[in-house]
Amino acid sequence: MPDGPLPRPERPERTLTTPEALQAAGLIPAAALPGAMAVAERYSISVTPAVAALIDPADPADPIGRQYLPDPAELATAPHELADPTADAPHSPVPGVVHRYPDRALLKPLLACPVYCRFCFRREAVGPEGGVLGEAALEAALGWFARTPAVREAILTGGDPLMLSPRRLGMILARLAALPHIEILRIHSRVPVAAPERVTATLAAALAVETPLYLCVHANHAREFTPDAMAALGRLHAAGVVLLGQSVLLRGVNDSPEALEALFRAMLRARVKPYYLHQLDPAPGTARFAVPVEEGRAILRALRGRVTGLAWPVYVQERPGGGGKVPLGPDYAANEA
Ligand SMILES: *Cc1c(COP(=O)(O)O)cnc(C)c1O
Ligand code: SF4
Repeated sequence: MPDGPLPRPERPERTLTTPEALQAAGLIPAAALPGAMAVAERYSISVTPAVAALIDPADPADPIGRQYLPDPAELATAPHELADPTADAPHSPVPGVVHRYPDRALLKPLLACPVYCRFCFRREAVGPEGGVLGEAALEAALGWFARTPAVREAILTGGDPLMLSPRRLGMILARLAALPHIEILRIHSRVPVAAPERVTATLAAALAVETPLYLCVHANHAREFTPDAMAALGRLHAAGVVLLGQSVLLRGVNDSPEALEALFRAMLRARVKPYYLHQLDPAPGTARFAVPVEEGRAILRALRGRVTGLAWPVYVQERPGGGGKVPLGPDYAANEA
């Protein structure tokens, strides 16, 4: 065996969805296989070729690997962790719709994602199986939007709406945009960074609608903005899509002023305006990612003044039990005294 770091595995051709595939690709050691298999019985796994190429397997603390590689710690649910931390279920007037705020509502046309993040707040719901709204359910959901004129903004989430075919996504957007009270369309997606090759010219064309379309890109580390991801975001921007960024504050991924500064600067270079930095929601088995709110505030305080105001997201927390999002500060004035 030669000394020095292990060679980087080659970029796999396919998405890796089993512990065995992760091990064969050199992303987890053989010793980690039994633990990963136990996790796989409960939670979905998916590592796209783009993400696999970003993981440094020689670094057990790699901030990309940490977001996507299963860990036996996921099987321990802490007492405060909840299966539905944002309490979407009680706010669902029809299947696939969540309506908590008067002027906007979520539409979840599917539950599949390009990757399955180990800290996901919807981890009990997302996955590749089933999870697509059938024709009748989609019609019922669109019917709800049609007869709810207070809703001005339709927010497509899931799962990841950019996992739909461009045809189906284009149809859904067109149907929503045709409603006279819908002023804004929004999509939340991890595809531009996790599977940038899905952002084809056809997909970009499906997103080029007259109604303003905001795309909120989920990314948590500067390294996720690869040249391919930047190109995908460039195609979306060229199609007239307004790009926003959302991130989760995660232990071992972006829990320092330097990591957040690099992340937000990477977003701005990709024409993505940081929108939200989320406090971690207490989904089952996610405790290893938790950063206390006070620490989050201190990290953000250290950034103020050092980076352009354009880089500044709102630090928010989902109130338990479906209370909605609340800003967490930091409270500068109080701390300057
Ligand atoms: C987060 C969320 C939204 C969007 O909230 P914004 O603050 O407008 O980004 C809408 N509906 C539900 C149910 C949500 O959880
Ligand atoms: S892409 Fe979003 S919804 Fe899907 S697993 Fe990751 S955080 Fe959850």
